[in-house]
Amino acid sequence: MWDKRSTAQQAKDQQAALRAQLVDVVGPFSPFWRERFRALGTTASQVASDLTKVAAVGERDICPDGNPTGAAALVVQAGESGWALHADGPQLRKALASRLSRSGSYSAVVEADTRPISFVFAGLGLRYPVASTRSDLDVVARAGARLWSVLGLSRSDVLVAAMAPDASATYQGLSLAALGAGSPALFPGDDPDEVAAALRLVPATVLALYTDTAEELLDDLDEAGAPLASVTTVLLVGAPTDDERSAVRDALSRAGVSAKALAVHVPEGHRLLWGECAEGSGLHTYPDLEIVELLDPETAEGAAAGEVVVTQLGMRGSALLRWRTGDVAASLDTGTCRCGRTVPRLAGVRRAALVPLLSLRSGHRGVDLRGLAAALEGRADVRDWRVVIGPSPRDGHDEVVVHVVPGGDGDVADLAVAVARDVRAAAGLLPTQVVVSEAGELPDGRRISQRVHSRV
Ligand SMILES: [Zn+2]
Repeated sequence: MWDKRSTAQQAKDQQAALRAQLVDVVGPFSPFWRERFRALGTTASQVASDLTKVAAVGERDICPDGNPTGAAALVVQAGESGWALHADGPQLRKALASRLSRSGSYSAVVEADTRPISFVFAGLGLRYPVASTRSDLDVVARAGARLWSVLGLSRSDVLVAAMAPDASATYQGLSLAALGAGSPALFPGDDPDEVAAALRLVPATVLALYTDTAEELLDDLDEAGAPLASVTTVLLVGAPTDDERSAVRDALSRAGVSAKALAVHVPEGHRLLWGECAEGSGLHTYPDLEIVELLDPETAEGAAAGEVVVTQLGMRGSALLRWRTGDVAASLDTGTCRCGRTVPRLAGVRRAALVPLLSLRSGHRGVDLRGLAAALEGRADVRDWRVVIGPSPRDGHDEVVVHVVPGGDGDVADLAVAVARDVRAAAGLLPTQVVVSEAGELPDGRRISQRVHSRV
């Protein structure tokens, strides 16, 4: 059973899967990681023994200039000859045996494992493609069947998802989960009339809603007289906040629906959907298919609470190794859940917390706080720094103000220009203002703080 293994067994299985992933797949065939290992003077085998040998990376590390073509270097690029060298024994024997009986079948087996055939788009500060091979889609569907069991669903459940088919890991994960579990699934888009029409067509037991618009849509469906009585489970897609959860509970009771509301979520870049077994249980992960870590977002060292970092195991398209998702979690619980599963669970997930969507004068965009910190931390000409993000009192648009205390006695104007330039390079955003201050004049509080929009 994938979900009942002891912590020690899980660690052993993970270690074996990590070694196979690194030595047979990522090390030899991912251009980004091959180059990264060479630059670090390490090998895939050494990294397999100690994953912390490589620093965690995120979207701006692979696309430093904001150009999404950098994401291609993550894709595993193995040809037939390379595959034969690295494929595991049983798979290779199967491929060779089938080559004897049917011409073309050898390359079919190789291709299923090596050729990217499906792409989703991900990203917070930029939009980049994530590739899957045929065998990756099998993994996504298998994880989806598990998701169904974590959520307490079965093949007799019927899903209506208030979302349109699109090239996102959420849509792909949810549709393959329904397929893997054997449940009918409809994706009518998010227009309330269309969703209500779908609910009239099928007796839905599961209604999936984007968490940030779930309350509004439930009210609209209620008003449209959509049949909601058969719904027993509402899936809140995208790691709901406590406020969003209680708003949905209120909307459900207004509509007279008694359904449990469970969170499902896939972080940016990852392809496997995590879910809850009960409200607030934490998102259940898949220890044989991924290694999940929490890191301090500023220092990138292990922490009890922090950024969710994912290493995919057994995936052959885009190779995500110590991938910084931009999500922040309050804890990673490894004890046994009340449902009896021993899988690690993420609690208090705040989606995209490190790349908040700002409303700048130049338009809406995600701003990578990790890039801001990287541009300021550890430089000789800056002794201390703060970044304050928040709405301008003048027109309400968000501003990014960087405060620095000089580390030397260089020219103050030159320092401001250098800081602005480096922030732009690392975070893809020119600060609204760089304020050079004395040590006692820095704003109070955390190094990066966000002032909240005051609601009128
Ligand atoms: Zn559980």
